[in-house]
Amino acid sequence: MSKHVLFWIPAALRLGIIWVVAGIIWYFFGPEIGLILGMAVMTILVVMQLHYLSQLDIWLDDPVAAKMPDGWGAWAANYARLYRLIRDNEKNRVEMSEWLARFREAMSMLPDGVMMMDDTLFLEWCNPAAERHLGLSMERDKGMRVTNMVRHPDFINYIILARFDQPLTLTLQDRKLLMQVIPFENRRRIVVTHDVTEADRIDRLRRDFIANASHELRTPLTVINGFLEIDATNPDMDKNTLQSHLNLMREQGQRMQALVEDMLVLTNLESVDFPLQSEKIDMQQMMEQIAKDATALSAGKHKISWTVDGPDIMGSPDELRTAFSNLATNAVRYTPEQGEINICWTVTDVGPRFSVQDNGEGIAPEHIPRLTERFYRVDKSRSRQTKGTGLGLSIVRHVLLRHNAKLLISSEVGKGSAFTAQFPRNAAVIS
Ligand code: ADP
Repeated sequence: MSKHVLFWIPAALRLGIIWVVAGIIWYFFGPEIGLILGMAVMTILVVMQLHYLSQLDIWLDDPVAAKMPDGWGAWAANYARLYRLIRDNEKNRVEMSEWLARFREAMSMLPDGVMMMDDTLFLEWCNPAAERHLGLSMERDKGMRVTNMVRHPDFINYIILARFDQPLTLTLQDRKLLMQVIPFENRRRIVVTHDVTEADRIDRLRRDFIANASHELRTPLTVINGFLEIDATNPDMDKNTLQSHLNLMREQGQRMQALVEDMLVLTNLESVDFPLQSEKIDMQQMMEQIAKDATALSAGKHKISWTVDGPDIMGSPDELRTAFSNLATNAVRYTPEQGEINICWTVTDVGPRFSVQDNGEGIAPEHIPRLTERFYRVDKSRSRQTKGTGLGLSIVRHVLLRHNAKLLISSEVGKGSAFTAQFPRNAAVIS
């Protein structure tokens, strides 16, 4: 049976009963009373319907399930259906807003920027990464034209020409961004930005490293090849000249070997597959060794002193010996004869520290921040003369980083330098 019929049957029954009762009263008490009673009951019914209607009218101003009015007869059934409808709707709304909040949170944690624009290029929404990358603010810029806020000509051309098959590389606020636009719906667009500054920097470092390393290796190779060619085309060359050529070739060969060894050390230090082999280091013994190396290199040309009053530490003995030795031998190499060098292992408020102080040539302030870059030298010819590879301080920095220590450099031209390796307090072994 249709819903329509099901609705009318109880209503018709109720009306029928009223009229039958009115008829009976008419029959027993006369037509006036019958009619008056019939009219009164009908009036009550009409007033009730109007009451429910007004309740519905009031409720519609604030249609929440908790405030649903009560009803009678067909009203009760329909209110119940309305209640279920509203409750489902409210549940969906809560679920929807929870889902939206989760989506927003996930979007705000994305390292990539996501921005939505409408068909007229007005900003609809963007996540915090897009705010950072593009210099936008959701609060301030929502509803504004994106091309008015990101005023880079390449960006504006890219958006206007709409050639989105290729991503755009853009430098904005010192950051290099890779940008991809995805058209969706009716001419709306999603802009995704990916920060490639760090990847680009690493790539540039790698390219520079290969270029520098090739250049460093080419020089001794050219020397060796040159002598080999001269010697090969002059079979009657006198013994002394040949010997001096051999010595020079050996020297260049050693230089290449030192360079390759330093490059391997650096590569290992940077590799994640090369974890730190930490153990207790006897600092007295290590300092003796460092002082011995420096003294041997100096060959009596410098006054070298050393003191140990710091604790033993945990760390890699091989790596720290390499780093400390690099600092001590640098002091010897860059300090003129008769200069003074002091090597010291001590402990301060912030932790144990290794320092090498010399009164050598010193370093101008503009060079200091760049000294730990690979192949960076203040004076190239001096470095080569003293058999430097240009990688020593870079190795020191990496070793110290692996030990949570810092390299501090202070220097003054003509007065000397101090290179300090500052270790954290927890590096010390408590005896
Ligand atoms: P190198 O093999 O050229 O010595 P390093 O990385 O060990 O390479 O040092 C980088 C540069 O720092 C050196 O070329 C030199 O110019 C400068 N330097 C390092 N130690 C000292 C020092 N004690 N006094 C003066 N200059 C120094």
